[in-house]
Amino acid sequence: MPNVYLIGAGPGDPGLLTLKGKKAIESADAVVYDYLANPVFLKYAKPGAEIIYVGKKGGDHTLPQDKINELIIAKAREGKVVARLKGGDPYVFGRGGEEAEELVAAGLTFEVVPGVTAGVAAAAYAGIPVTHRAFTPSVCFITGHEDPTKEESTHHWESYAKSASTLVFYMGVKNLPDICARLMAAGRPADEPVALVYRGTSCRQRSFVSTLKDAPAEARRLKFTAPSIIIVGGVCSLRDTLGWFERRPLLGQGVVVTRAREQASDFAQVLEDLGACVLEFPTIAVKPLPDYAEVREAVENLRDYGWVIFTSTNGVDHFWRILKDMGRDARALGGCRVAAIGPATADALRERGIEPDFVPPKYVAESVVEGLLALGVKGAKVLIPRAKVAREVLPEELARAGAEVRVLPVYETGLAEAGPDEFLEWLTRGDVQFVTFTSSSTVENFFTLVPKEKLAERRADLKIACIGPVTAKTLARFGFTPDISPEDYTIPGLAAALAKAVESA
Ligand code: SAH
Repeated sequence: MPNVYLIGAGPGDPGLLTLKGKKAIESADAVVYDYLANPVFLKYAKPGAEIIYVGKKGGDHTLPQDKINELIIAKAREGKVVARLKGGDPYVFGRGGEEAEELVAAGLTFEVVPGVTAGVAAAAYAGIPVTHRAFTPSVCFITGHEDPTKEESTHHWESYAKSASTLVFYMGVKNLPDICARLMAAGRPADEPVALVYRGTSCRQRSFVSTLKDAPAEARRLKFTAPSIIIVGGVCSLRDTLGWFERRPLLGQGVVVTRAREQASDFAQVLEDLGACVLEFPTIAVKPLPDYAEVREAVENLRDYGWVIFTSTNGVDHFWRILKDMGRDARALGGCRVAAIGPATADALRERGIEPDFVPPKYVAESVVEGLLALGVKGAKVLIPRAKVAREVLPEELARAGAEVRVLPVYETGLAEAGPDEFLEWLTRGDVQFVTFTSSSTVENFFTLVPKEKLAERRADLKIACIGPVTAKTLARFGFTPDISPEDYTIPGLAAALAKAVESA
């Protein structure tokens, strides 16, 4: 392994890190990253790896470049494998070349993992191919950072203007008026298309197309700032036809997810696929039980049960953890029929080799009983691995229907340890457009963490979404009515309802 990996972290969309980049982060003892590199990648770092933020944003350098170099070298000399994450590609205006030279001078080894550069990716997400046979034979990446008051420009404005290349300017928003003026002076037509893409590939992406003559005024009017890419050339005219990313219904919408961190990822994924900026505010902590003797006993005697009903992915996760500890696997359930209360729970079972015998068409306890009755649950022994404290409707209704029910706690939930500060900060900054509740406990815990007056103050600026009627009823206890409640009480149903709310707004 080299001493240092210089890794291109891509332009913002976490899916645009390369597989090799991910592998390099996983193998590192220290991860050094700056503001353009998406911090979600830190989750790939191994436990105990040192995480160092070195900032760097136009104007407020938290750590100057020479100090960053010294730091990387010092960490590598400690014998650590250092992953240096840089936004986009490390060698495209990232000063990665200088960092690499310093490493060589220090006698250290390094490898470069190229990344998806913003000039190509932000353009593509905005619907602009940087080359296209009908428009241009070449593309040119240019720094727009050069001080416009400098007497002698190192730029070859004449060549840029004559080249017919698509011109892609990085770090150029401040100098946009100067860039446009110089290009026109050097012969590019005043009506040549110009596009700006702000925070391309992220949920905050915005873009517009204008002309060399009008782009500076338009950028000011629309308040475009760094980080933005400037694209000059005929290809920009394709944006309206080929734009796709900005059509996502929830683009730029801040959606607060209140469920436990362990459960948040599937919801977050659906929301992000719709373009949302997901703000995770877990109100529930999922904890293992202090003692699993009862679970072990139940696993030993699984053959006694006709049905095992899983009510959540947490239930599946914790049940399987114990199963595995006991050296057992899916075959332990071989003699039982298995039900999953929702599609996510069903998927969690499928991942473990179990195709559920029953998944109810509607995801509330009441309709589960109906379906199970049809499958002959009457008289059967039923095991329900679930949270220690949960709604009793399902076991009670099943018992009433003639089943012999045993509830088996496999985990417990509690209040998350977070304070309200992070949430209140999002509220103040206007980052929150939706607050979502996916169970009664998320509502109760949320209002234990956040004073309800605080939410009431900003009620007009945001929408509240509840997954189903039971959750909505709990919300009513705190004096709020949901703006959104999907007909289909599932995570995808909830996400689709948010999208619909934005579309019809
Ligand atoms: N190494 C990076 C570029 C670093 S220079 C890369 O290959 O992408 C910083 C400039 O990159 C910013 O000023 C901006 O012009 C551009 N940039 C980086 N990320 C961007 C993004 N997501 N959207 C638009 N421009 C971006």
